Amino acid sequence: MNPIRRESSYPMVSVEEAYRLINTQLTPLPAEQVPAFTAEGRIVAEDITATEAMPDIPKAMVDGYALRAGDGMAVRRVLAELTAGGSTTSTLTEGTAARIMTGAPVPTGADAVVMFEYAREQEGLLQIERAPQVGDNIRQIGQDVAVGELILAQGSVLGAAEVGLLAMIGRTSLPVYRRPRVAVISTGDEVVEPDAPRPVGAVRDSNRYALLAAVREAGCAAISLGIAPDDRTTQRELLLRGLAEADVVLTSGGVSLGTRDLVKPLLAELGTVHFGRVLFKPGKPTTFATVQGKLVFGLPGFPASSLVSFEVFVRPALRRLQGDLHPERPTVQVVLGETIRPSPDRPEYQRIQIAWRDGQLVAQTTGAQLSSRLLSLRSANGLLLVPPGDTPYQPGDMLPALLTGAIR
Ligand code: AMP
Ligand code: MG
Repeated sequence: MNPIRRESSYPMVSVEEAYRLINTQLTPLPAEQVPAFTAEGRIVAEDITATEAMPDIPKAMVDGYALRAGDGMAVRRVLAELTAGGSTTSTLTEGTAARIMTGAPVPTGADAVVMFEYAREQEGLLQIERAPQVGDNIRQIGQDVAVGELILAQGSVLGAAEVGLLAMIGRTSLPVYRRPRVAVISTGDEVVEPDAPRPVGAVRDSNRYALLAAVREAGCAAISLGIAPDDRTTQRELLLRGLAEADVVLTSGGVSLGTRDLVKPLLAELGTVHFGRVLFKPGKPTTFATVQGKLVFGLPGFPASSLVSFEVFVRPALRRLQGDLHPERPTVQVVLGETIRPSPDRPEYQRIQIAWRDGQLVAQTTGAQLSSRLLSLRSANGLLLVPPGDTPYQPGDMLPALLTGAIR
């Protein structure tokens, strides 16, 4: 039997070094053409520019009268009524006006629109209350969009407004980066399916379901590969299946120093382990490898560790693979709402709720920060970056935090 290892043979890397090592292995996935109007959440793979001006002809911005500003305050004859979608060929001569509705084409010869509120029409004659200026209440050609104007930049995320913009310019399909396929494997003899009978001492597999949800939330397609016991052959089989089906494989558990922690040696045998230990809490044994040109993250088994490690290391990589211009969560400065105790030797990513109070972002802890305690992530929208040390941070102190969710 092998002697018990007291310390991992992998060097401890900093979080920054871990990011660097991951990023050297990343290139965005190829683009694919998809229907535009259901593409929310996808990331645009090329610049999209307008080929037409908007509006393409001058249009009335209000309901009123189209007229010639040069006729001043003189009484005008009302010749016609123009509506949106109506004639684009009408003409106004000196001393005349046309009733015009919002969005209707402004007739040739007219150079201003006067609102109904400032006009009175009686028996075909129009009296206005104030002198119009050239251009009043007219949307000029290209005012909203100019020909050649950038509509969506490569790397931007499609949301409701962006889908609307594509519809506006008549783009029915567009190239977006392919969604990464991400396979998730749990390991552990004690780990059981949540809907199966649970023998005394067994643990329901929360990691895989949390990670699969996090994978989808990160814009990827999630593949669930089940639970591998702490057995080399099954773990190897599932890993190889993941590599065949996915771009990225995530495992949870089995990366520590226990005699049944088999993931690191398996990855070393099949590929290259780029790091096997990170100076950070929770999740020190987080492991990153490439096997057959695919990325593999060996995440820790404790539920808070696996999900925080996903957030810190995996999510930015998954966003980068999709060509996201901003793959990392934003960092914000928060005011501590209560005392925060640092870890003596490692930077700690403490789970917090960030709220907007009295003009500042205030952080409240989610309670005990045990790596086994998944409740420490419930309703968390931030990870407080707590430097190592012995002195607690006091209410009112400021620290940076990763903003991982919406502020409520
Ligand atoms: P390990 O890193 O494999 O030693 O696992 C550390 C701890 O995390 C153990 O107490 C496991 O029972 C727990 N654990 C491992 N995998 C899972 C999982 N998929 N879901 C929930 N807890 C787990
Ligand atoms: Mg285990």
